[in-house]
Amino acid sequence: MSSLLEVSHLKVLFHTQQGDVPAVDDVSFQVEEGETLCIVGESGCGKSATVQAVMKLVPTPPGEYAGGKILLEGRDLLPLSTKEMIPIRGHEMSMIFQEPMTSLNPVKTIGSQVGEVLEIHRRDLSAREIRAQVEEKLSLVGIPDPARCAASYPHQLSGGMRQRAMIAMALACEPKILIADEPTTALDVTIQAQILDLIRQLKEKTGMTVLLITHDLGVVAEMAQRVLVMYSGKVVEQGEVGALFRAPLHPYTEGLLACLPRVDQDEEELYTIPGQVSNPADFPKGCRFHPRCPYRQQICKEISPELREADGRLVACHFLPGERVRREEGAL
Ligand code: SF4
Ligand code: MG
Repeated sequence: MSSLLEVSHLKVLFHTQQGDVPAVDDVSFQVEEGETLCIVGESGCGKSATVQAVMKLVPTPPGEYAGGKILLEGRDLLPLSTKEMIPIRGHEMSMIFQEPMTSLNPVKTIGSQVGEVLEIHRRDLSAREIRAQVEEKLSLVGIPDPARCAASYPHQLSGGMRQRAMIAMALACEPKILIADEPTTALDVTIQAQILDLIRQLKEKTGMTVLLITHDLGVVAEMAQRVLVMYSGKVVEQGEVGALFRAPLHPYTEGLLACLPRVDQDEEELYTIPGQVSNPADFPKGCRFHPRCPYRQQICKEISPELREADGRLVACHFLPGERVRREEGAL
């Protein structure tokens, strides 16, 4: 069976004054119909750029699609023009963003914005049918008074309600894949939980496929079957969520997991991965994680590790857990 979405060896460059930035560097993954796949990593690791690339939303220039394929049900989206992408966005794949306030138009009512999506994609519907569908979508995402919400402007709604409205907009044309880029980051914890719950319920109800971007492994544990860990524009580990949580194969995944708060731990003891994400215009040679890796050896500074299979997962590290030696502070 072929995957619903298959991204292979995708490469996106940004031409900047500091040089070419490989924001997405040889990224491959598949999304199977009906599953939730999470992409996780710190900010600046290329996860947003990856999904923007999948939606063909990378501005070119300064961006450039420098190679690879994005196959949606076997059809490569990469060569398609902006015009050819219109029926695909919204209808086949749709996206929700981190901050709904920046994605919603402040001078249009919620109803007219959700309606617009339908007008573009469903020319068979009359104005009355569109209004009815708008209210149906708003109620599907748990908005208590859909008619009132439809008549409201974005600033009249709370953050959680705005995010629900964004989801209604994304779902207006019943896309096969919903791409959610950190959909709860700007919301407070209770609302975050409600929105994640909503995405889960909608998935159960509609059978849609979800590609979820997050920096939060707690969200991954709750939402996904499979996870892709990215670092500095590359995939460093990929596999089934349970296995990856039980025994991470990549030192970066191990570091991310160690950062998760645990019930038996004081807050002061919370671990943080030392150092910072490298400047994408100046990635280190060899393994891009080496300046922060507690296991780095000389080879790591020279040769970039390829993704390889181990324990039914994919990992890009020269060493597997049993082969690693933790470096003394200050060594190498
Ligand atoms: Fe660490 Fe080396 Fe593995 Fe990179 S290749 S993650 S530096 S051990
Ligand atoms: Mg981002």
